[in-house]
Amino acid sequence: MDAQNKPDKKPIQNNTSKNTGQNPQNNQQNKKTPGRRYTGRRRRYYPRSQQNSQSKQFKTSFKKISIVIPLYNEEESVHPLTNEIKKALNPLGLNYEVIFVDDGSTDDSLKKIKEICNSDKKFRFVSFRKNYGKSAALQVGFKYVSGDAVITMDADLQDDPKEIPNLLKKLDEGYDLCSGWKKKRFDPVVKKLSSKFFNFVTRVLTGIKIHDFNCGLKAYKRDVVRNIKIYGELHRYIPVLANWQGFTVTEIPVQHHPRRYGKTKFGISRFFKGFVDLITVIFSTRYIKRPMHFFGFFGALAFLAGFIILGYLTVWWIQGHPLSNRPMLFLGMLLIIVGVQLSAVGLLGEMLVRSSTDDKEYVIKEKR
Ligand code: UDP
Ligand code: MG
Repeated sequence: MDAQNKPDKKPIQNNTSKNTGQNPQNNQQNKKTPGRRYTGRRRRYYPRSQQNSQSKQFKTSFKKISIVIPLYNEEESVHPLTNEIKKALNPLGLNYEVIFVDDGSTDDSLKKIKEICNSDKKFRFVSFRKNYGKSAALQVGFKYVSGDAVITMDADLQDDPKEIPNLLKKLDEGYDLCSGWKKKRFDPVVKKLSSKFFNFVTRVLTGIKIHDFNCGLKAYKRDVVRNIKIYGELHRYIPVLANWQGFTVTEIPVQHHPRRYGKTKFGISRFFKGFVDLITVIFSTRYIKRPMHFFGFFGALAFLAGFIILGYLTVWWIQGHPLSNRPMLFLGMLLIIVGVQLSAVGLLGEMLVRSSTDDKEYVIKEKR
């Protein structure tokens, strides 16, 4: 793990649930039935250890977990997914909410979501009028979360909610973001290979040592989702955006499943879009506040090369040779012009940055 990804050793904040090893919901239950539990007409006594055996299984410092699920035309998966989430989380006694973000589905997804939300208050939804894409769906979902830890997962049953406690454990260790790593992946070969390539390039260019940047299953502390801005298709690079804002990032291997219903919403275009987005991410994280370092560097390089070429040709001309048969002259001129232009773009960028610097862009960790 890269040093910059390591969490600072800050103590995890204690709260009621941490002190007692249970969540507030269970505490309430305990208040109602101190030491005894009644079933039916006959009074039966269960020892305290037996009563709480289930809720003691998972301890976390988070009071509430918000699960954000972006979905686009996943009508067959909505009910099975809901059941899987309930099956995985209810026995742990976790206080959680689920926010479905319907990304303009044209099938019966919204109808199914509404059925679920009507029957269980833990489930809520936001619905887009049209399809804006996964990044937009996540960004809007993040706006509505009320938990202090946030989980994102895909709706297509490829991500396993049983992994949620493992992700939360990493946040409790001090990390701000824990990404899933689909170590054994159930996807078509082309997708696996292109994804391997992108993960490799991203790892090299960003220095963030994780294997799977674009896993749908991730856990975040609330601060992270309040501070990252994802649009277009930047959801692929959330760990990079978070890390560049100073948040600590890690990953754990997670169980992955083949897609059970429907088909993937990202075709071969993912390859090209992914590449353009990678350039956007690198530029916007590393150079957005200092454009001159980027444009100025390449501008200076081009200018220098042009200068050397023209210098050489000048000496050649002084020695009495004609320049009319030297195509290098055009190359030298071109390089000088490009160099000046790139530097000018860098300078303009610097001026824009200077006039638009805003306190809101700096992520504050603590204040009194
Ligand atoms: N998705 C979405 N909006 C879109 C495309 C996809 O909300 O425009 C959702 C989709 O329904 C799924 C998740 O994003 O819940 C991941 O999509 P998919 O399974 O197609 O991606 P893959 O697993 O092939 O990378
Ligand atoms: Mg999928």
